[in-house]
Amino acid sequence: MARSRGSRPDPAAPTRPCEAPNCPLIGEYRAPKDRSRLREYRWFCLQHVREYNLSWDFYKGMAPEAIEASLRSDTGWQRPTWPLGRLGHSRLDPELLRDPFGVLSGRAQPTRRAPDPAAPPPELRAALDLLELSWPTDSLALKSRYKELAKRYHPDVNGGDRSAEDRLKDINRAYSLLRHKLAGVQASAR
Ligand SMILES: [Zn+2]
Repeated sequence: MARSRGSRPDPAAPTRPCEAPNCPLIGEYRAPKDRSRLREYRWFCLQHVREYNLSWDFYKGMAPEAIEASLRSDTGWQRPTWPLGRLGHSRLDPELLRDPFGVLSGRAQPTRRAPDPAAPPPELRAALDLLELSWPTDSLALKSRYKELAKRYHPDVNGGDRSAEDRLKDINRAYSLLRHKLAGVQASAR
């Protein structure tokens, strides 16, 4: 079994062209079709077997519809003439996307990380940045930072400066989002 994915040609490779569309090279690197068909392979050249494997890491965690849409709109070899169905996945299994080839490579996927408890929820990052708050934070810290910034960017103290006005609008939005989120967190923690 190969030590790492697609790192060397398979000596048992049948003599056949790379399966990527219009690729003139020999398909001497194999990639499994999917977890349920580990003994069935796609054959690619080195570059394309890497792309094939990488594409699964890249799309991991995306909804199947989003992956499909992305594949259809992508340029390069992942163009509409290369739909998922031809990669051997007419239906995408989330488990497969999470660790598609770990079984074969014999090592954990480097991209598979445990969520960092200190990291803010992705949907709150922009708002936290805007209010210059670190995570975790609480309602009290939020409120005091908001008051400070609202004062700083208030049109009255900025001579009607439009950019300050826009900034204040963003701050209001961020404050509103975080206020609701933090209220929700506190309510569910009870
Ligand atoms: Zn190729």
